[in-house]
Amino acid sequence: MEKKSCNKLHPQSMCPAFGGLRVLTRIDGVQVCMVADQGCLYGLTFVSHFYAARKSIISPELMNVQISGGSMIDDVRRTIEAIALDPAVRFIPVVSTCVAETAGIAEELLPKRVGNAEVLLVRLPAFQIRTHPEAKDVTVATLLGRFGEFQGTKKAKSLVVLGEIFPLDAMTIGSVLQKIGVESVITLPGTALEDYIEAGQAEACAVLHPFYERTVSLFEEHGVKVVKGNPIGANGTAQWIRRVGEALGLDPATVEAVAEEEAAKAREVLERFRHLQGRVIVAGYEGNELPVVRLLLEAGLEVPYASTSIARMALGEEDHKLLSMLGTEIRYRKYLEEDMLAVVDYHPDLVIGTTSLDSFAKERGIPAIYYTNNISARPLFFAAGAATVLGMISGLLGKKELFQKMKEYFTQ
Ligand code: SF4
Repeated sequence: MEKKSCNKLHPQSMCPAFGGLRVLTRIDGVQVCMVADQGCLYGLTFVSHFYAARKSIISPELMNVQISGGSMIDDVRRTIEAIALDPAVRFIPVVSTCVAETAGIAEELLPKRVGNAEVLLVRLPAFQIRTHPEAKDVTVATLLGRFGEFQGTKKAKSLVVLGEIFPLDAMTIGSVLQKIGVESVITLPGTALEDYIEAGQAEACAVLHPFYERTVSLFEEHGVKVVKGNPIGANGTAQWIRRVGEALGLDPATVEAVAEEEAAKAREVLERFRHLQGRVIVAGYEGNELPVVRLLLEAGLEVPYASTSIARMALGEEDHKLLSMLGTEIRYRKYLEEDMLAVVDYHPDLVIGTTSLDSFAKERGIPAIYYTNNISARPLFFAAGAATVLGMISGLLGKKELFQKMKEYFTQ
């Protein structure tokens, strides 16, 4: 494939509104009211059932006649009132999407509360929010803007951990934070509205993923300290623990001892996989790809190319500089065609990519796995995360010959 044939026309990511629905549908007592056309509603109900909280979405019937005929806002209000009749519903996010009329719905024409339920407009148009990770950020920031109790004194030694993570990672983070003296932890996106209310009282926020820039700005505006980075790999683990300790003014000796201990455990895992050799391409659309690349590089693997769907953001700058220095070509807002060219140009031994890229790689006899199902669905943090991810990669690198044989078999 030559560079000039790169048409950049393939769909690059799923509908961004899905990211917001993932955050919203997981909140207890929620019932989403979606203001969208029938096509969006069909697709988003489908993916929300499979990849979010298996909850249905309710929507007024919006065909062209309602959208353009002026009755849309009345239909939306009637739908909200009908949803609020259910006493179990405590929160009704009104999600507007791409169609111009629904994206521009007037917030002041919606109620703030009906019966037992809070009502909040969350705007998620794809023409403005390009990817589903960024839609998570918009959603969390909208929720905090409305519900966060930022007034008053901050609760000492309290931390918000911001970013969706694998459940085992959440448990490990909790136990490490307890060891260094953190007294209360709130994880966002959370499953209770109270999490968003109480998050405003936290002393610091540890943001694990680089795309939460609106949420982080909101915290900073309200005097909440921000801790960047994540406990991935040996160096990242020690640095993250020290940063949390510093932000919360914890006992430096205890923090240092835990940082050293956790880093040593992660280093031991990296040494165990030091025999690994191979060239890996990482090309996801989750927005958290660069720290994964950092882990692979720290383990001694070669990563000539990495790409992500999100834009280059200030929160990811440390990783950007490190990876670039170590020779990784990084693409933000990537196109599938760019990823395909990277497979052709770099001849990787393994591709951790999107489904379309994986098919492209497998057709060439290159082992390939889906980033979302394999990286986002297993622990990644501390020593346990390093062991799981590197263990999986070790198994896959050993399969290159098998993939080549399969290719030969099917092309004979
Ligand atoms: S039109 Fe917009 S909101 Fe609807 S499915 Fe497509 S990207 Fe999503």
